[in-house]
Amino acid sequence: MSDHDDHILHTWLLARGTDEITIDLWTDGYSVRVDGGPDDGHDSDQGRPAVDRLLAKYTEAGYRIVRDYPVNDPEPHTDAVEADDPEPHGRPEKCPECGSPVVYEPAYSDDFREGAAWLCTGCKWGRWLTA
Ligand SMILES: [Zn+2]
Repeated sequence: MSDHDDHILHTWLLARGTDEITIDLWTDGYSVRVDGGPDDGHDSDQGRPAVDRLLAKYTEAGYRIVRDYPVNDPEPHTDAVEADDPEPHGRPEKCPECGSPVVYEPAYSDDFREGAAWLCTGCKWGRWLTA
């Protein structure tokens, strides 16, 4: 983060092929500024609703939202961190067969099924997690 970003609250980055658009919502809560794309240099003072309209317009035109991130957002966005496939509770402390550490594998598959499983790092003992 640099001084240059001081006025920006949140940024959305969109891309379509090599075309990129950034939408900045300013910390005043209503200024919106577009960089790149068909509306390069466009600005609005309608805040988040304007951002939502622009996002809808661009995604309809084939752009996808690459990422959006808070720049000077006072509220931490912890959701994004927690959504990263957390390990469920109940991991066996060690393998019941050989005593090696057991790891969580969210997308394990064998010949019969695929899903979350506990796997032994030693003897390859494993157990499916049943949701
Ligand atoms: Zn084992």
